Amino acid sequence: MKSGYITELFSSFQGEGPYVGRRQIFIRFAGCPYSCFYCDTPSAKEPKPGLCTVFGNAEHNNSFGKAFLSKKRFIENPMSSHLVLELLTELRTHDLHSVSYTGGEPLFYAAFVKEIAKGAREMHLKNYIETNGYSARAFASLVDHFDFASIDIKLRSHQASTDYDKQYKNELECIRIAAERGLETIVKVVVLKDTAIDEIEKICKDLVGLNIKFVLQPVTGDRAQRDIVPGIKELFAISELAGAFLHDVMVIPQVHKILHVP
Ligand code: SF4
Repeated sequence: MKSGYITELFSSFQGEGPYVGRRQIFIRFAGCPYSCFYCDTPSAKEPKPGLCTVFGNAEHNNSFGKAFLSKKRFIENPMSSHLVLELLTELRTHDLHSVSYTGGEPLFYAAFVKEIAKGAREMHLKNYIETNGYSARAFASLVDHFDFASIDIKLRSHQASTDYDKQYKNELECIRIAAERGLETIVKVVVLKDTAIDEIEKICKDLVGLNIKFVLQPVTGDRAQRDIVPGIKELFAISELAGAFLHDVMVIPQVHKILHVP
């Protein structure tokens, strides 16, 4: 049985992309090889946190034979896949859409993620992976256990890694694998003020012909970062450009920050 490090395991609403507002159980895996300057989950970058925080978001029994975990509790890391699956049962609700494997970066623990995803499917749950696509090899090893993949494409200006070409190649390969294996594939690009339009055009051209949803997500700036938030005219221009190459283009901000949920 595999084990790994998880920062948080909780029930909430999806806050990004076309499934925004859908109830999910989030497994936030620890660690990430990138360092995007706008990262909104810096605490999840710690690769070996001592404790995982577990919480639900309601006060009722969940009617699946377990009481909701409405209060936070802390579980020692590393956690076994068996324990994670037990917690999924506790956090399961009737409105549940899927289990989201997020981070940090879930591909960091590919074998552990795969074992949990396999067990979740046996519980008749759907699996949704949110990844920065840093390793196409790791992604290929687990993709068949997933129904949805949300894969980021990082722009040069995000300063995610020191080897942009390798990073981009892996992202594109993950997207291609997900689309070809029949997953519902969402490609997300975080857009900043003054995002280079040529760069978006190149990405769109590279994605032509793939069955994907293309999400432009304006960065959510805190007070210190307000000057990096793109203007509405910029978003219209980028969306129109993307629409010239791709069928399913959408501009969706992070909604969980408006709802003040994790
Ligand atoms: S890939 Fe995600 S978790 Fe990693 S640094 Fe970038 S925004 Fe943060």
